[in-house]
Amino acid sequence: MKFKTLSVHAGQALDPQTGALTTPVYQSSTFSYFTAEEGRARFSGQNPGFIYSRFGNPTVTPLEQKLAALEGADEALVVASGMAAVSAIMYALVDSGQEVAFVDPLYGGTDAFLKQTLVRAGITVTRYGSDQELLDNISPNTRLVLFETVTNPNLKVIDPRKVVAAARKVGAITVCDNTFLTPYLMQPLALGVDLVMHSGTKYLGGHGDIIAGVVAGSHELMAKVRTVALKHIGSPIGPQEAYLLQRGLKTLPLRMAAHLENASQVAEFLSSHSGVKKVVYPGLAQHPGHQALKEVSRGFGGMVSIELEGGFARCAAFLDKLALFTQAVSLGDLESLACHPASTTHAAMSAEARQAAGVSDNLVRLSIGVEDAEDLIADLAQALA
Ligand SMILES: *Cc1c(COP(=O)(O)O)cnc(C)c1O
Repeated sequence: MKFKTLSVHAGQALDPQTGALTTPVYQSSTFSYFTAEEGRARFSGQNPGFIYSRFGNPTVTPLEQKLAALEGADEALVVASGMAAVSAIMYALVDSGQEVAFVDPLYGGTDAFLKQTLVRAGITVTRYGSDQELLDNISPNTRLVLFETVTNPNLKVIDPRKVVAAARKVGAITVCDNTFLTPYLMQPLALGVDLVMHSGTKYLGGHGDIIAGVVAGSHELMAKVRTVALKHIGSPIGPQEAYLLQRGLKTLPLRMAAHLENASQVAEFLSSHSGVKKVVYPGLAQHPGHQALKEVSRGFGGMVSIELEGGFARCAAFLDKLALFTQAVSLGDLESLACHPASTTHAAMSAEARQAAGVSDNLVRLSIGVEDAEDLIADLAQALA
């Protein structure tokens, strides 16, 4: 079946007791196994069945099946947040003495986790400035490579095919944070990436009402990630959030189409505006990653970044004038959002690290919502004026 059909139907079965069309919210911490013998069989893994909601929950399992279908994965795991997904992947798959490589820039929280917390486990963290730099210089000690295909917040394109080629030279595992594109636009596993992860908080949930994380890949890797994420770190998603995430996924293709259409209209308008120094949108032909992204993705995403001359003061003046765009971090909501990454999402990085990653003080990040493009453009025009 095709993507829109899977979005609606995958992982969803009529409730056998009531015939309920949608998956019920099983708000229960524990599940009876009724007999001691059945308890023994479930704990040993001999029998399937729910035990305790930190290990698995009947609202979460169908959601994981839907996500596995959407990613083309053996298996998917849903956890409490995108950061829970990143940390579980690292602790499950990398040992002390091994090396993690990343392509700059990453989401600010991921960057901070790698440099401040993961290194304390005796894991070396190595930065590469681009996919080409990684391909030319990857260290033979690399165990895992983490990258975002469209980077946050400056919308650089990292070609997954180059990252896979680099990792294969040294036998490293590749992990793609696909939050910005979603499986509707790009399926990293089909491009040879080993694990895909998401902040489910963003486009997958899509309504700005939950925090969630997703990891998907082969049974072999996922078994390790699942055990660490749920049993050891202890970051399950709650059933209510799981319900909202599966509901959001049903409209993912519809919402993405609307985000894409609006983003391209907004990018075109901003490109023609003399008050904007630079427009960064991979859908624009002059973007250096335009062609590569076109080859691997069904579309260019719903994020548009701009540079305004004058650093924080000028960006703040612009942001404070916006009326329809909300000043907030996060992205991928129905509502359009705007933020100044250098002073918010990427403030934990040093000024030098921000400069190296291309996160300038002039940069404003726009998450284009599903409102009418004309209204968004009118708001941007009056704020720029
Ligand atoms: C938001 C985000 C994360 C972190 O996800 P949370 O759900 O906030 O924990 C990771 N990667 C990217 C690209 C993000 O945008």
